[in-house]
Amino acid sequence: MGKKKYALIAGGLVCLALFGALYYLQGERDKPYTLSTFAMGSYIQQTVYGKGGEEAAAQAAQEIGALENRISWRREHSDIALLNASAGNGPVPMDPATESLLETALEVGEKSGGAFDVTIAPVSRLWDFDENPRLPETGELAAARALVDYRQLALTPQGVSLPEGMAVDLGAAGKGAACDKALAVYREAGLAGGVAAAGGSVGLYGKKPGGSLWQVSVRDPWGAGSVGVLALEEGFVSTSGSYEKTFQQDGVTYHHLIDPKTGYPAESGLVSVTVCSGSGALSDCLSTACFVLGEEKSLPLLESFSAQALFIHEDGSIACTPGLEEAFTPHSPGDLAADKP
Ligand code: ADP
Ligand code: MG
Repeated sequence: MGKKKYALIAGGLVCLALFGALYYLQGERDKPYTLSTFAMGSYIQQTVYGKGGEEAAAQAAQEIGALENRISWRREHSDIALLNASAGNGPVPMDPATESLLETALEVGEKSGGAFDVTIAPVSRLWDFDENPRLPETGELAAARALVDYRQLALTPQGVSLPEGMAVDLGAAGKGAACDKALAVYREAGLAGGVAAAGGSVGLYGKKPGGSLWQVSVRDPWGAGSVGVLALEEGFVSTSGSYEKTFQQDGVTYHHLIDPKTGYPAESGLVSVTVCSGSGALSDCLSTACFVLGEEKSLPLLESFSAQALFIHEDGSIACTPGLEEAFTPHSPGDLAADKP
């Protein structure tokens, strides 16, 4: 064999090794890192891609815990616990991030005509869906309902204030805000891609390895599976469903999505609403608002926020706003009908 031949073979081997190493590195980069933690009464599930993923996921989990400590009315020293404890006693200064979350909640309150009301606490505490669900008496419910009015929550340069007896519950926004937090961490860390899921809210960041769209399953309200899949770019998805937290009394099923006008679980003909928008907190607030409003009244609200939604009706029918029609692939309608009561 001549020298040239050896050189060619050696060159070929070097190329092969290089390709192999590159292929391996690409594989390493595409390998997801997953982390499951618990906060806000839910599992927080993260799947991240790219260098620094493990550290970013740990930081996001830590920051979501810190967020809960600031916004949960159950946490003794949270901004919201202090606000509720000071109702009637003037403004309470708080973290600008909490204020901005309250601002989003108020905006959804206004544009939904009060179907979303962040001052729902006096009523939601009576139902106590998270700990000891019970059917409140009509008298106590009427008294509590009189204390629900988002227009009385004042954001001023001196802080946030509430009239006496009123209280804030950010339960409808917290998990979406947690997704906002996670994605901010992923962006800061320069990750290639990542998904953060907190209860019914999901944040989709960057690109999936290979560049295909993210796939988000829409849960079947009547079964353990899904009704179909949404194929989406970066953004946020939140679902509110009446199956999520329920109890039964005297043959009636009660759920945790309250119509502030009645104080009772909303009856809008829907069993679930999934909202997609560019903000986690907004998607979360909107999914609750849309559930209370029903499909028809939700449409102008969604449009005002450039958000999209998928509605599942009590009769099993599914409807999407035009922006989601192409993104949604339903499973065969027969499957869904089989699960329905
Ligand atoms: P989940 O907590 O299951 O993710 P949601 O995001 O839809 O569901 O929020 C439901 C929570 O929001 C309730 O547990 C309650 O704390 C609060 N809530 C219920 N009804 C309303 C409403 N009309 N406006 C604002 N908050 C509400
Ligand atoms: Mg919500």
